[in-house]
Amino acid sequence: MSKLIVVSNRLPFTVSESEEEFSFTQSSGGLVSGLNGYVKERRERSELDCVWVGWPGSEVSAHLHGQLKSTALKLHSAHPVMLTAAQVEPYYHGFSNKTIWPLFHYLPSYAVYDESHWEAYQKANAVFRDSILEILAPGDTVWIHDYQLLLLPKMIRDAAPETSIGFFLHIPFPSFEIFRLLPSSWRKEILEGMLGADLIGFHTHDYTHYFLRSVYRTLGFEHNLGNISMGDKIVRADTLPLGIDFKSFHDGSTDPEVLKEKAAISENLNGLRLIFSVDRLDYTKGILQRLYAFELFLQSNPEWRGKVVFNMVVVPSREEVDQYHRMKKDIDELVGRINGAYGRMHWTPILYEYRSLSHAHLVALYGLSDVALITPLRDGMNLVAKEFLASRADGTGVLILSEMAGAARELGEALIVNPNHTSEVSQAILIALQMPREEQIRRNLPMQVRLRNQDAFRWATNFQNTLSEVLGSQKKMSAKHLAPEAKAELMSRYGKAGKRALFLDYDGTLIPFASHPQLAQPDDDLMETLKRLKADPANHVYVISGRKKETLQAWFGDLGIGLIGEHGVWIRDPDSEWRLTKPLSVEWKPNLMPIMSSYVERLPGSFIEEKEYSIAWHYRNSEQELGSQRAKELMDHLLQFTVNLDVQVMEGKKVIEVRVSGVNKGNAAELCRLALNPDFIFAVGDDLTDEDMFKVLPVSAYTVRIGMKPTFAAYNVSDYQEVRSLLRGMAMSRT
Ligand code: UDP
Repeated sequence: MSKLIVVSNRLPFTVSESEEEFSFTQSSGGLVSGLNGYVKERRERSELDCVWVGWPGSEVSAHLHGQLKSTALKLHSAHPVMLTAAQVEPYYHGFSNKTIWPLFHYLPSYAVYDESHWEAYQKANAVFRDSILEILAPGDTVWIHDYQLLLLPKMIRDAAPETSIGFFLHIPFPSFEIFRLLPSSWRKEILEGMLGADLIGFHTHDYTHYFLRSVYRTLGFEHNLGNISMGDKIVRADTLPLGIDFKSFHDGSTDPEVLKEKAAISENLNGLRLIFSVDRLDYTKGILQRLYAFELFLQSNPEWRGKVVFNMVVVPSREEVDQYHRMKKDIDELVGRINGAYGRMHWTPILYEYRSLSHAHLVALYGLSDVALITPLRDGMNLVAKEFLASRADGTGVLILSEMAGAARELGEALIVNPNHTSEVSQAILIALQMPREEQIRRNLPMQVRLRNQDAFRWATNFQNTLSEVLGSQKKMSAKHLAPEAKAELMSRYGKAGKRALFLDYDGTLIPFASHPQLAQPDDDLMETLKRLKADPANHVYVISGRKKETLQAWFGDLGIGLIGEHGVWIRDPDSEWRLTKPLSVEWKPNLMPIMSSYVERLPGSFIEEKEYSIAWHYRNSEQELGSQRAKELMDHLLQFTVNLDVQVMEGKKVIEVRVSGVNKGNAAELCRLALNPDFIFAVGDDLTDEDMFKVLPVSAYTVRIGMKPTFAAYNVSDYQEVRSLLRGMAMSRT
C-alpha cells in the first residue's frame, strides 16, 4: 500500500525521555484532526497508509534513536526527525520565528536577518529530507506543512524526482513589497524550495495571489489561473482554507466533562455577561490593542461597569524570543492598570489567565461566552474563531473578528473590525452585548453551515484531490513531451524520408532571448548545423521568423536556405529571390505608429521595431509586471482602432505586433508545403505566432513547441538547447 507522508516541524505529540524509556504526550489541532479523519477513511478502504514525520519536541540521546524510531512507528505511525537542541535553536527559534514569522505577519521591524540562522534553516530542512528518504517508497505522496520547511519540497524533488509532493502554508504569504525585504538569494531559494511541490496551498486568495506575484517578480515564472509554467513543468498554487473538526466542537458542548466545567465557570460568573479571548502569547494577536479597546469601552460606557467581565486567556508560547518576553510584561502591566482603574470591591473587569486550557474548559468557555473578541493584527487563519461558532449548538453568541484574520474571508456575517482602530473595536463590543438573540442566530447559522461543510476532513480531502488533479494534468503534458522513444521514432522517420521540409522559428527556438533583437545573432554552432542540414539534398530548410527580411538575409543569405520573414509576409525559397506571399497595403501604418510610440514613453525599456509590413512593440527589457499591464492596455487600444482596418494585432513573447491580415506563419508554411509536397515535416517554435503553423500543418507533421504550454503542436520540449541537439542529430545522420 502506498503511503501519505505528512511532514510538519512538530510531531502531533511530544516525547520525553527518562531512564531509557519514552513517554508520549498527544497534542491536537485542526491539522491533526483533519488528517486523522482523512487517513482513517482511506485506511479503512485499504487505499492508503500514513506516516507522520516531524521533530518530537526534545533532543533524544543518540544511542536511543533507533529505539525511539521503532516505538514511534509502531505506536503512533510516526517517524521522528532527530534534531539536536543546538540545531533547533537557530533553525526554529532563529530563522523560522525571528525572520519568517514576523516578516510574513507584516512586522518587518521585528525580523532579524542572520546568516547563521539561514544556514541552520537550510541544514535543518536537509535533516528532514534525509529522514523522509529513510521511509520514502515509489508511489508515496509527501505532504509538507508550514513555514519552517519552505526549502523541503525542492530538496525532496531533487532527491526523488518522481515523488508527488504537496505543500501547505498555514501562515499568511505577504505582499511582494514585504517578501522582497529578504536578501535576494534567500528569497529566491525559498520560492524555488516551495515550487519543488506539485501543489502549493494557502488559506486565502490574497495569500495565493501574493505568492504568485512574488514568484513572477523574483523568478519570472508566469501563471495561468494559478498554474505556474516552469519550463518543463506545471505547478499549481491554490486556495484551500483549513477547517475545523466541526462535529466534535458542536456535539462536544454537551459532553459531561464540558458540562462540569460550564457549571464551575457559571458559578464564578455570578450573572455577569462574558466576553472572552484565547490566543497564544504572540505579537501578531493584537492582545495589547484589544486591552486598549476594552478599556475605551469601559470608559465610554459606564453603565456596563460591573455587568461584564472580559476573560482573556493567553497561552504561553515562544518565551525564548525577546519580543514575547517583553510583550508578556506589557500585558501584565496593562491588565493591572485597567483593573486598578475600573475594578471595584466585587468586580474585576479583566480576568486574565496566562496558561493553557484543557479541551473541556476551552469548549465550556466557547459555549458560555456572550462575545468572542478575536482581534489579531495578522493571522493566517485563526481557528479559535471557527471553534467558537461551532460550539454554539443553539446558534447564539457574537463573534467580533479582525479583518486581518484569514478566517474573516469565510466569516463575513461576524462583526468584522480593524484591530488597530480602538474606537471601532470598543463600539463593536457594545453592539455585540446589545445584539438581540434572533440577530445572533441569523448571523451565525450560515457561518455554521459553511463550517460544517468545509470541515478539516473536507480540507484534507480537497487538498489531496487537487493534488491528484495536478498530477493528472502534468501526466497529460508529459505525454506530449518529446521523450527518448518519440525522439528515436522521429529520427528514424527522418532517416527514411526522401523529401523533408523543416520549418524553424528563430528567436527563443534556435537561439535564447537577448535583451535586444540585434544581440541575438546566430552563433557558429548554429550556422554549422544549418549548413550541414542544407547540404543534404533531401532537406528543404526554412528559418521562419517575425524578423525583417533584411536581417534574415544578412544572417542566413549566404547559406542558401529558405527564409520566411515578418511572420509570413516575405518568402525566399532556397536558392531563390524574395517574394511577397500576397499583395499587401501599408496605408494603416501612419495611423497606428503614434499609438504604439506613445507606449514606448509609458513603459521605460520598451521600443518599436518597424518592418515593411508590420510594427512591433517589444517590452522584453522592461519591468515585468508593468510590462504585462501595459501590453494588455496596448492590445485593448489597438483592437479598438483596427476593427475597420485590414490588419491583425498579435501577441508574441514580450512583443505586440500589428501587421496586415491574412498572412501568418501558417499561411506561409502551407504555401511552401504545397509547393514541395514533402514526406517528412518538422516544425518548431516557441510562441503564439508559431501556433498558426502548428494548426495548419498535417497531423503527420512533427510539430514541436518549446516550453510546457498548452499547444496545437504534437510535442513539447523544454528549451532551445533541446531543439539544437535534435537538429544536430539530424545534421549528423547524413554522414
Ligand atoms: N488551543 C489549545 N489550548 C489552549 C487554547 C487553545 O490547544 O489552551 C487551541 C485552539 O483550540 C485552536 C488552537 O489552539 O485550535 C489555536 O489556533 P489558532 O489558529 O487560533 O492560532 P495559532 O495558535 O495557530 O496561531
